[in-house]
Amino acid sequence: MLNTALRQLRHATRVLAARPFRVADIEAIVADLRASLDEFGGPGEDLDTLPGSQSADPEIQAVMARRRVRQAVRHAAAHVPYYRRWFAANGPDPAQLSIETLSQIPPTAKDALRAAPSAFVSDIAEPVLMIRTTGTTGTPAGVWFSKHELDLQAALTAISLMVNGRLRAHHVVASAITSRSTLPLVTSASALGMIGAGYVHLGTIEPRIVLDRLAAPLHLPGKKPQITHLTVVPSYLGMLTWLAEHEGWSAADFGLEQVFAGGEVLTDALRARAAEALGAEILDGYGATEITPVAGSVCSAGHLHIPAEHAHVEIADPVTFAPALPGAVGVLVVTPYLAYRDTTVLLRYNTGDLVRRLPGADPPECELRGTPAMSRVLGRIATDGTGLTARDILEVLQAERELPMPTRYAISQSPAGPLLHVFAPGCPAPVLARLEERAADRGLPVRGIVLADDLLDLPVPSPARSDLRELTFEAGGMPSDAAQVAGGVVR
Ligand SMILES: [Zn+2]
Repeated sequence: MLNTALRQLRHATRVLAARPFRVADIEAIVADLRASLDEFGGPGEDLDTLPGSQSADPEIQAVMARRRVRQAVRHAAAHVPYYRRWFAANGPDPAQLSIETLSQIPPTAKDALRAAPSAFVSDIAEPVLMIRTTGTTGTPAGVWFSKHELDLQAALTAISLMVNGRLRAHHVVASAITSRSTLPLVTSASALGMIGAGYVHLGTIEPRIVLDRLAAPLHLPGKKPQITHLTVVPSYLGMLTWLAEHEGWSAADFGLEQVFAGGEVLTDALRARAAEALGAEILDGYGATEITPVAGSVCSAGHLHIPAEHAHVEIADPVTFAPALPGAVGVLVVTPYLAYRDTTVLLRYNTGDLVRRLPGADPPECELRGTPAMSRVLGRIATDGTGLTARDILEVLQAERELPMPTRYAISQSPAGPLLHVFAPGCPAPVLARLEERAADRGLPVRGIVLADDLLDLPVPSPARSDLRELTFEAGGMPSDAAQVAGGVVR
């Protein structure tokens, strides 16, 4: 174990000095960690110095954050065309900017990245792979990665999966994420290969086929008898859950242990229903291609925790971008550190994801208390000014088992207040009464609820990531239109 200790120490020294990471060192640590887990069943005692983990000492954290923010700003001003132009036109001296004065740089909007992805690529980088984002908010943004970044991301993912996810060589992970979401595809295949675990990329195909695959025996040497882990977006998890509930599946049909859900709001209601239907622990996470490797985890107390290790994370007022006050809603504005991201470089990137700052100054008491905490993501930026969040609406709707999933809804404005339109084909009358009661219990600021039998009756479209469907010839005669699937499963 002496080699392991030396490698971890060498890596920790590079972290402290804000020097570039050596992927070979981290890959060797992954191999050591796997050997240690195989032999002793545990990761050993040096967890604090594993790559990707943060120092528990708040003072060291603060010093490192200051150093890394300065480094990111100077690099961007010198090498990234978009920021070079901004500094030239607006004047602040990049050498003088610090974590305290970072707000002199306005947040970078997603539209700027969409408009000119290459303007954010460092001119000393070697871009090899462009990943396009797959959000539901219009034109995708293009984000370039270098081989170094991809290898680093894979090795860090392997460590995180082994230590935090307890993933081992006998597990088999399936992914129902869209195949166009290339980053998780590339890094998962590589990370799981280092762990020795199996990887099955299914894609966002007809959910009935995915349930069949999850239930099917694998007959593989050294592996569990069925798929043990699944990666999904919450809207697709909703479709799987709805089908399992309505088409006679039982949790005992599957060998699932954990489901990783991310990329959209995951409600408590869906989490409970999915756990019951699929017989697995449902884990909620946060991440986005643009700010990789920033990865948030949701603790047992329902906070979202985002490690300070990978990026400087601000919770900013969605209008003024001043720091959000305790208890207030703010948008996540993220500056990834250069050690992890040296190709597409972003300063103060406006993710558009809303969270609420925790009230009060005391850190939470949960199991992740050493990691900065906030509320789970409430949804995307709301433009209606009513304070309605996607999370509040979805909690009300997904608690209702008669409503098909993915959940589709829209808000229309009227002088008397917002009206919530819900896609509820053929739902019996008591459904509306139950929804109204739950909305009132939750204090949802809506004037009323209108059920729509047809998706076209919603005043605006209601896209979900599960709409990124991929056709397969296996589906033979099954509905291929997402709306048809959402509306016509059992009715
Ligand atoms: Zn917590």
